[in-house]
Amino acid sequence: MFEPKPDRSRNEHLKEASRFLRGTLEESLARAETGAVTEDDTQLTKFHGTYQQDDRDLRAERMRKKMEKAFIFVVRVRVPGGVTTPAQWLALDKICEDYGNGTLRLTTRQSFQLHGIIKSNLKRTMQAINACLLDTIAACGDVNRNVMCSPNPYRSALHAETYELARQVGTYLLPRSRAYHEIWLDGEKVVDTSGPGDDGEEPIYGRFYLPRKFKIVFAVPPSNDVDVFGHDLGFIAIIEDGRIVGYDITAGGGMGMTHGRVETYPRAGDVMAFCTPDQVMDVSEKVMTVQRDFGDRIDRHHARFKYTVQDLGLDFIREETERRLGYTLGAPRPFRFEDQGDRYGWHQGDDGNWHYTLFVQDGRVKDEPGHHTLRTGLRAIAEIHDGEYRLTPNENLIIARVAPDKKAGIQALLDQHGLDRPLSGLRANAMSCVALPTCGLALAESERYLPDLLTVLEEKLEQAGLLRDDAISLRLTGCPNGCARPYLAEIGLVGRGPGLYNLYLGGAFDGS
Ligand code: SF4
Repeated sequence: MFEPKPDRSRNEHLKEASRFLRGTLEESLARAETGAVTEDDTQLTKFHGTYQQDDRDLRAERMRKKMEKAFIFVVRVRVPGGVTTPAQWLALDKICEDYGNGTLRLTTRQSFQLHGIIKSNLKRTMQAINACLLDTIAACGDVNRNVMCSPNPYRSALHAETYELARQVGTYLLPRSRAYHEIWLDGEKVVDTSGPGDDGEEPIYGRFYLPRKFKIVFAVPPSNDVDVFGHDLGFIAIIEDGRIVGYDITAGGGMGMTHGRVETYPRAGDVMAFCTPDQVMDVSEKVMTVQRDFGDRIDRHHARFKYTVQDLGLDFIREETERRLGYTLGAPRPFRFEDQGDRYGWHQGDDGNWHYTLFVQDGRVKDEPGHHTLRTGLRAIAEIHDGEYRLTPNENLIIARVAPDKKAGIQALLDQHGLDRPLSGLRANAMSCVALPTCGLALAESERYLPDLLTVLEEKLEQAGLLRDDAISLRLTGCPNGCARPYLAEIGLVGRGPGLYNLYLGGAFDGS
């Protein structure tokens, strides 16, 4: 098993000493005198699907009053391919009301986020999420994250096949440590016999896990809604004669960078090879282990797979992957993407069922009195809907598999709650990250600013004689980590300070 060099980063030591992600988390959670966990444990909570944050709107005032920061946690739910049921929707809606800030956030990686949870409610939140048959394992941390897949249900046969692969890959690459169950679910305490040199508990990751997070996506052309080139490892379905014959493999995409550090940069993934569907699982594991063994464990700013690909070269990555696979991969085959966006409104699938793609401004599910009652409306829909939901990579929601005789009832609720609204082409293709007030890394506003920015730009478009429904992709983030993938948009705005943004122009509309 892999052994990093002795001069590895602090996080590497921390992971090794954590006893497979246990650390002192139980003690941290039990300490009533503070709303925080220890600094070391803040690194480990990520592997369990939660980040410690603080309400930054309250920071200055609390500092003046010599009070501890208003610590809160965000919990990210693992939802492979973004597929959930109405019962799960209702459960998450209740959890955000009981323990969070009363809103649900649909993320750019097809997950739910619950914001504003205080430490004393964290365990109850995790238990409630698990009770609805979802979990938060590996939703964050130096592991393979939520595996994404083009939702696209009206091309159902192809989508279903790809989704099933994505789900299997996601499950196979989960960390195996029992720490999650012990800490959050009061699971049976497994005797921890692991010591230095014993990797028995994590057969794929080992006790150092990965150098940084790792992201896998599956795209089904002609839609590049998952932004396949923005992730560490991608699979592009190759469709011939109406069936998927295999997948082109992309490697080395990634969005994050740091202002002022020129050695950090966003990178679009390269198309590396082709594999058959039955090779996908093996390829996923072997590419990930190449990064496990060759990724930078000294400088975390240089630890993502994109830098390994850039530094060692695509040929090396492919050869090393093939060496581990024990067979050669095929040459990439042609594919064609049309766009990165979602197609709103009703679409009928091959099986006769209907699917409604609903625009969710900034992915934030909440009521906006005077405009719409989104959260209330979606709750009402979940009560009558017997199909499923798909979270899109563009922070929107597909009400999927609506039987023809149920369509009118859903439409009536959409109308009643003000959810079926005309959109400008700009708004329909815009995305923001969460940023202030909860994200600790935010340098500028994003989610709270985007709706107003779009209104101003819509007016400017009309004044300039341009068409309101021209599709233009614009993405805004509060810092250069790029959670809303701004570097792959036609217009990217990236926060660098309060009220200050870098402007990036010229991404292709198909995300390439
Ligand atoms: Fe936070 Fe930056 Fe991600 Fe926005 S892009 S959510 S500010 S880390």
